Amino acid sequence: MKALVHTAPYVMQLQEWDVPDHGPDDLLIRVKACAICGSDVKGYSGKTGRRQPPIVMGHEASGVVEAVGANVTDFAPGDRVSFDSTVYCRRCAYCLNGQPNMCERRQVLGVSQGTYRRHGAMAEYLVVPYWIAVHLPESLSFAQAALAETVSIGVHAANRTPVRLNDTVVIVGVGAVGLTSLQAMRLKGAGKVIVTDLSPWRLDLARQLGADVAIRADQPDLLGRLRDATGPEGADAVVEAVGIPATVDTALEITRKGGSLTLIGNVTPRVEVGLQSIVAREITVRGTYASGGEYPDCVALVASGRIAVDPLITERARLEDGQAVFDRLYKGVETSIRSVFIFD
Ligand SMILES: [Zn+2]
Ligand SMILES: [Zn+2]
Repeated sequence: MKALVHTAPYVMQLQEWDVPDHGPDDLLIRVKACAICGSDVKGYSGKTGRRQPPIVMGHEASGVVEAVGANVTDFAPGDRVSFDSTVYCRRCAYCLNGQPNMCERRQVLGVSQGTYRRHGAMAEYLVVPYWIAVHLPESLSFAQAALAETVSIGVHAANRTPVRLNDTVVIVGVGAVGLTSLQAMRLKGAGKVIVTDLSPWRLDLARQLGADVAIRADQPDLLGRLRDATGPEGADAVVEAVGIPATVDTALEITRKGGSLTLIGNVTPRVEVGLQSIVAREITVRGTYASGGEYPDCVALVASGRIAVDPLITERARLEDGQAVFDRLYKGVETSIRSVFIFD
């Protein structure tokens, strides 16, 4: 099979690999679409330590079941499927508690880190345990289904955040995760959603996807502008989807007294925060990571159109052009949310 292999920093090589073996609990899937995540683009630089070569990346994907293991009863060859990015064990305390993203044996598709290497979907075939897979309705295209994983990050963040009908929500950063969080917050009944980002193009997209107010982050007195939009108290709930010191600070300061701050952005390992601002104003701060069992819901939300993914698909590419696509994305493309490899 053809596999796009990350073999060294900044190198993505198209190689001929054997089709992987599948075990009794596995589905062998013929990949039909695989999106490139921001974490893949960062990983290809070799700086994150989470894509140690050689590795086939790709954790946002969909395809057709080619073969199933002996223990598999719910899937058969020919079924259209997508799958969660987290491979979890179903047996540890976290899995049993409904937190598969916290699984003690957690692996992520397309990631190699420390002691494990789990090849992903930037290849013609991949293997996943059947319990992370979800059947796709006919109405859903493979490219749309590949975006269900992106959606799951925003949906999980929204599920982690207490939002009451008509609450005011601020989303800091409207890349893929911010844009799916925005749509999920709308579905939860937020009365007003305010977004901020450096990119006018992304702010426009956020407006199309339901943001009421979109504010350039590089304007003077950003906090003042945000307060003009939220009201002087600040926002009931804030989602931080960038993960650098300046945006975490903005997110905290625009959270109202007693409000909640949900952190998804995960770029700078250590960030200084205003301790008094959290303590004295009784802010509830939550981390949110991957998704926790919401994957079937996310496929359904995409299929029903309640969360739109077509505007997030900004490029369709061939696996053969992988090196060029990664090179370009790494340099930065302002008008990009997700590039998706489409397979025959
Ligand atoms: Zn991702
Ligand atoms: Zn587990």
